[in-house]
Amino acid sequence: MPASPLAPAWLSEPSDANALAEGVWPASAHRDETGGAVVGGVSVREVVARFGTPLLVIDEDEVRGRARRTVAAFSAAAAARGTSARVYYAGKAFLSTEIARWVTAEGMRVDVCTQGELEVALAAGVPAEHLGFHGNNKSVAELRRAVETGVGTIVLDSEIELERLSRIAADAGRTQAVLIRVNTGVHAETHHFLATAHEDQKFGFPLAEAARIVERIRRAPGLRFDGLHCHIGSQIFGTDGFRESAARLLEVLSIVGDGGEPAPILNLGGGFGIAYTSADEATPIEQLADGILEVVAAESAARGIPVPVVAFEPGRSIVGTAGVTLYEVGTTKDVTVDTETGPAVRRYVSVDGGMSDNARHALYGADFSARIASRVSEAGTQLVRVVGKHCESGDVVVDAEYLPDDVSPGDLLAVPVTGAYCQPLSSNYNHVPRPPVVAVRDGAARVIVHGETVTDLLARDAGLHPSRGEE
Ligand SMILES: *Cc1c(COP(=O)(O)O)cnc(C)c1O
Repeated sequence: MPASPLAPAWLSEPSDANALAEGVWPASAHRDETGGAVVGGVSVREVVARFGTPLLVIDEDEVRGRARRTVAAFSAAAAARGTSARVYYAGKAFLSTEIARWVTAEGMRVDVCTQGELEVALAAGVPAEHLGFHGNNKSVAELRRAVETGVGTIVLDSEIELERLSRIAADAGRTQAVLIRVNTGVHAETHHFLATAHEDQKFGFPLAEAARIVERIRRAPGLRFDGLHCHIGSQIFGTDGFRESAARLLEVLSIVGDGGEPAPILNLGGGFGIAYTSADEATPIEQLADGILEVVAAESAARGIPVPVVAFEPGRSIVGTAGVTLYEVGTTKDVTVDTETGPAVRRYVSVDGGMSDNARHALYGADFSARIASRVSEAGTQLVRVVGKHCESGDVVVDAEYLPDDVSPGDLLAVPVTGAYCQPLSSNYNHVPRPPVVAVRDGAARVIVHGETVTDLLARDAGLHPSRGEE
């Protein structure tokens, strides 16, 4: 069958529309003898029979394995240059107490950006000194809570915050270690990066002011300057953007000197790209770690300064590929569209969730893939768009994919690579309850985040519950 004229250029027609592509699905994923998909040793048909759809399934060993491999890669690359590495899990990608326990058991620290995330990490038992706290508008209450609980590193984002934190820490009789978030002017897009003098975004201090801010911190009561931080973007392939921003920050470190403080930290953030579809190829983490550390060592040597302790904050590359969302197909509909080469059919496949459990296409135009998970099919393929049940034409989960032509109501449809930035961005739009999250490992499934019920949805309606004791 010729490729559909409606298919985007990156999407090629699969030779097998049942295949669970390597690198896109968790490593444990396969089909059993009945053709049903299995993740973490658990049949998706069975897990759906227990927990219903939509359902977010997280492969625990995939998360743990990626956390372990990432820590090992950066530790080895750092050790080879005579320094050490700290690897923080960026909690915003998907944080629950279970996930925090898995990644910290594998050697990661945790990065949070609100009091809510901080409370989850603390409740999980993550040692406070292994927490980093960033964000451009942390409230006084949040800063106070962070200081009181002993958060290891706070990333300063403005001079107002510097003064606030100095006062809070001094009043509490503490010395708080801080990093400075620097807007390096380097911004990474998926396959290229831009480096400008003035990047127009809300985070951080301009590069040209960083040295002055270090001096202010050194004079401020209650604060200790621990190093520099940047985060140049997300879903980045290759090392060019990291290398450029590392060079710019090392220049600042060479200007400010060590001030008699312990070896400074160079935190280069997260953003390592993963494969959302077979068209993407993720760079192996060992290669990224080595490429980045090589330039950190070379640029330090060129300036005659010691190689700093390095820190990283990956989120997506730890949990993204571990998540698979399962939906049930409700309806299908063929829509004929005029194209330059004549009319073409796009089949809309409607599932029982949508932008409330996966806002990534609606928000960022993100691409995903899909497979029928409950069975295999020998039918030819058809170009489809997977859409949700919300009252919004932009309610698209998978913009373009080839599925077997016989995709039908009742089929289970799986969308892989939904472990990062799906559950945390989920909503109750249209009063749709948020789905549960189930961890799978060694053939066992257990809930790690409860699904919402209609009772939960009504519980905040003050027309039904006039007071919850808040005033
Ligand atoms: C979002 C973010 C991260 C994580 O980015 P990923 O793309 O998920 O790796 C790390 N650090 C900071 C400061 C961030 O804002």
